[in-house]
Amino acid sequence: MLCMECGATAEKGYTTDVTDLGDCLVIVRNVPCYKCVECNEIIYTGDVAQHLEKIVEMAKRFMQEISIIDYSKVA
Ligand SMILES: [Zn+2]
Repeated sequence: MLCMECGATAEKGYTTDVTDLGDCLVIVRNVPCYKCVECNEIIYTGDVAQHLEKIVEMAKRFMQEISIIDYSKVA
């Protein structure tokens, strides 16, 4: 996988995805991703991006100020 920003190699890893919805913050830990070795750009595969969207939708319904979700437990 190559970085879309700078074209360097992106390596497989895990990241913490933070989505700020204004009145609440959704934090998803242990999200599988590719991380650029040069610029630290995070790249998600289509599957993961879709999953993240669903997790954020789900978290919105809880209406908590801060939701911390472990990706590996909900995927
Ligand atoms: Zn890069």
